[in-house]
Amino acid sequence: MTSGDVGQAPDRIPFEDLAEAIVDRLREAGASEDVSRILALNCASCERDGTLSHGVFRVRGYLDSLTRGWADGRAVPEVESVGPSYIRVDGMGGFAQPALAAAGPLIAEALTETGVAVVALRDTHHFSALWPELEGFARDGYAAIAMIASGKLAVVPVGADRAVFSTNPFGFATPVDGADPLVFDFSTSSMSHGDLQLAAAEGDQVPPHTGVDAEGAETQDPRAILDGGGLRPFGGHKGALLSLMIETLAAGLTGGSFTYEVDAEAPEGAHTFRTGQLYIVIDPSRGGNEAYPSRIRAFADMLRDAGMSRLPADRRYANRAAAAALGIPVTDVIRELLGRE
Ligand code: NDP
Repeated sequence: MTSGDVGQAPDRIPFEDLAEAIVDRLREAGASEDVSRILALNCASCERDGTLSHGVFRVRGYLDSLTRGWADGRAVPEVESVGPSYIRVDGMGGFAQPALAAAGPLIAEALTETGVAVVALRDTHHFSALWPELEGFARDGYAAIAMIASGKLAVVPVGADRAVFSTNPFGFATPVDGADPLVFDFSTSSMSHGDLQLAAAEGDQVPPHTGVDAEGAETQDPRAILDGGGLRPFGGHKGALLSLMIETLAAGLTGGSFTYEVDAEAPEGAHTFRTGQLYIVIDPSRGGNEAYPSRIRAFADMLRDAGMSRLPADRRYANRAAAAALGIPVTDVIRELLGRE
């Protein structure tokens, strides 16, 4: 679900056509032109790069939240500078990507003036991957991290008698001299919720220590994990503490909802979660550190030379190049979006 192989499907669609089709659906569901375009670019980019769990697969969820009035596709975010480097954004119940975009001018100003921008978003629905925005910052020459208290009670750390965290993703991006940025972005659970659902649908077992059933007993049955149980954090207590930090910063610091506060609010059938997220963007060259991009390049080259031939984002860039040459493979969800049989 999270990865796609662009080399196989015979039927393909250009990126622009796919994005335009998503824009049409979002507009029909009541989103403004600007919001539709920002979300469609994000969704189509995920599909193009093979992040299928957050590509066209997500459009139905966006539409459900819009048509139920749960997410406001016409929200006008309130952006406030609360310090030279510190920006707070109230998404007003809209989506996160347009809220971040609305903060763009203040982020640019903070980076120019101080070299750092801390962006705290609250009351926003985030339903996608973190890498599209992070990659953009890195292409502009900045290092950036991001995290979301993602809102679905799904993760049971060892010792807890119920789910207390969401799959809370964490992402990082950095420019690299003469190369595409290094970008990683992953959930802090043993497995993403999308992959868990896929395993359940296909009747597969999941690896040991992936999650627990409703009684708190370890299980490899994905349906038992989904049915009242929960995923474990990745990496034992270390993943649990990273997730604790994400809830603290992406909800507590931003003023957004903690995951434990969110679940009961959503109306039946709505798929997005109104939470908070934090971005920290840094100019790495500031203060006489102009060698940063070339030093990161040397570091990345050393890693590859040592055998780490697959660095994060390599797969996505390869999929992107294939999609640019051949188009994006038309999957069943794309066919449904396009109204094709
Ligand atoms: P994965 O386990 O698929 O890991 C993804 C990251 O690890 C990518 O950056 C990937 O690079 C990199 N990677 C994978 N394998 C390797 C390898 N062998 N060597 C080096 N790097 C590697 O991620 P998840 O399934 O946990 O998460 C998938 C997506 O789900 C993320 O984008 C996340 O943001 C999103 N998510 C969103 C939530 C939300 O509420 N909005 C909640 C939870 C998750 P590459 O891109 O090249 O494959």
